[in-house]
Amino acid sequence: MSSAQSPTPAVPATVVTTINGRIIALAQQSLGQTEAGAIFQAAWGLGEADPDLWYPAATWFSACRQLAGQVAEETLQTIGAAVADGIVSPMGAVSPHAVLATVHTVFQTYNCGESSGIVAYVPTGPHSAEIFTSTQMPCAMSMGYFTAVVQRAATTAKLVHTPRGCRNDGATSCVYHVVW
Ligand SMILES: [Zn+2]
Repeated sequence: MSSAQSPTPAVPATVVTTINGRIIALAQQSLGQTEAGAIFQAAWGLGEADPDLWYPAATWFSACRQLAGQVAEETLQTIGAAVADGIVSPMGAVSPHAVLATVHTVFQTYNCGESSGIVAYVPTGPHSAEIFTSTQMPCAMSMGYFTAVVQRAATTAKLVHTPRGCRNDGATSCVYHVVW
């Protein structure tokens, strides 16, 4: 034991933005053996996702965008809703504000790395809120996801896109208005 031993310099870990396999697995289950599922699998290229593993977010986002270029928006919304239903608990009697207040934490649970983007919720009234997202997800997938999230607490909730730019058109973020 030498007290003069110099400490080993820490090697900075390479920061890779990753996404949890559970999200991808839910999307894959939602798509199933459909034509859209085949398009996604070809673009994804990493086979069936393991919910216990983490995957490169860039590959996930790229596959989602390739899919978005070839399928109807309804398909993308359905995938987003399936992901939400798989990771957000039903919150029956709870206010939509309570479930929306979890979106940032839920996002951070399944996404890791600086370039993942931001998901934020801002209450705008007793029965309304805005959701801000700057992830690289196709807009329709995000809309399906957040609609399903708020409907966990208020089944009649409606979500509309505000006219403040859209990521599909090159904007850095999308803002959605939710009412219930
Ligand atoms: Zn948008």
